[in-house]
Amino acid sequence: MTVRTRIAPSPTGDPHVGTAYIALFNLCFARQQGGQFILRIEDTDRERSTPESEQMILDSLRWLGLEWDEGPDVGGPHGPYRQSERGDIYAEYARQLLDAGHAFKCYRTSEELDELRETRKAAGLQMALKPADLALPEEEAARREREGWPYVVRMRVPTEGTCRVKDRLRGVIEVDWAQVDAQILLKSDGMPTYHLANVVDDHLMGITHVLRGEEWINSAPKHQLLYEYFGWEMPELCHMPLLRNPDKSKLSKRKNPTSINYYRRMGFLPQAVTNYLGRMGWSMPDEREKFSLDEMMAHFDVERVSLGGPVFDLEKLTWLNGLYIREDLDDDAFLQALRDWAFNEAYVREILPQVRPRVETLSEVMPLAGHFFSGLPAIDESSFASVKLERDELVRLLQFLVWRLEGVSRWDKESLLVEVKALAEVFELKMKAFLAPVFIAVTGSATSTSVLDAMAILGSDMTRARLRHAIAVLGGVSKKQAKRLEKEFRELK
Ligand code: GLU
Repeated sequence: MTVRTRIAPSPTGDPHVGTAYIALFNLCFARQQGGQFILRIEDTDRERSTPESEQMILDSLRWLGLEWDEGPDVGGPHGPYRQSERGDIYAEYARQLLDAGHAFKCYRTSEELDELRETRKAAGLQMALKPADLALPEEEAARREREGWPYVVRMRVPTEGTCRVKDRLRGVIEVDWAQVDAQILLKSDGMPTYHLANVVDDHLMGITHVLRGEEWINSAPKHQLLYEYFGWEMPELCHMPLLRNPDKSKLSKRKNPTSINYYRRMGFLPQAVTNYLGRMGWSMPDEREKFSLDEMMAHFDVERVSLGGPVFDLEKLTWLNGLYIREDLDDDAFLQALRDWAFNEAYVREILPQVRPRVETLSEVMPLAGHFFSGLPAIDESSFASVKLERDELVRLLQFLVWRLEGVSRWDKESLLVEVKALAEVFELKMKAFLAPVFIAVTGSATSTSVLDAMAILGSDMTRARLRHAIAVLGGVSKKQAKRLEKEFRELK
């Protein structure tokens, strides 16, 4: 048997370090056994999926050196590798399940479903909806069918008993069937849900082992049942521990930059990031901290994964990155790394229009535009002395802006202007007054290039990181304050 693993990202946002971590472990698992690694795009959520996000995910994984054998961009014998292009396949398998009685059409409206859940809750019953709960009186079902009401296809699930799912790292996981919903497999627009598409594709693509985040454990019983219904062998499952913030909470962009774009922009070396991700819950047999991707592939052993939530610690990563710079880069490689990072024509060209109107000699360029070639600016509370806002109000402004920017999907000057204008109104400030502290937070000084252009060029992750850094140097936000601010922010919308 050839081992085949896969990474199956949903292209709904920034390329997440968690995706790279899971991709790395799948790649090493396959390579160590002479197997193959596949990349499949799970874009069945048509509203949230974007081609930009897909492109960023591919770029980031490739930047980290995680190459795949088959995928939407390189092709392969089991394509297409994008779920949105496989609609007919899922429809056919859903039909098979319907014919065999393993699935049923459900004509319930969303109001009815809410009502059903409410009554069950009030009666203290399990929240999971079973086929029997969803069934309509025969006549009513026939009427809705005749009249062409929209419907979804749901799978039949047992009402009682225990489901046992084997996990390579966790042994047998037991789940009460009573807790498992009659999962929707096909939505009313004919699109499959994750569960159907994932199982069908893993089977058709010959996937033998699924290493994925532990957040998918709850889906495993449904998947196992689908494999049984189809009469297919299920890949071996292995649920990996989730990455954590240093405070042990789940890694989240509110506390830590989670986008690979950020690490790239910050000037981390891809080999250091990949090495660090390899240390997440895993260690080399000789416990050394610094190792290459080739070494990890050669020595990988999934049994060495420990389940205690691995902490993604920026300080540790920074230390490791320093080791790489000092120990691994000769002058040529160092120069190349700088070129790849920011000292390249494409990037410098972006900056030219920002500096041209503002300098008289070339030597003024670097002091003026240094923030385009740096990470977090060296600022402290006194940097904001010229801003005429109370500390709390200042922090509120910066925090609201961070949150607002989290929702921006098309990152360009025009979209940023819209966001900033809207928030300036909330704070009843003229644009100039609103932007004054933002200017300092983003460029590190009160006189520099245009701040909106700088934000557009620096990108979402670096911009937000700098705003968060400014909040931190201003004393940060206490938990209590954060709660209040979040509430206020929610009420704005
Ligand atoms: N599309 C899922 C994700 O975004 C894949 C989960 C899995 O690996 O089964 O992570």
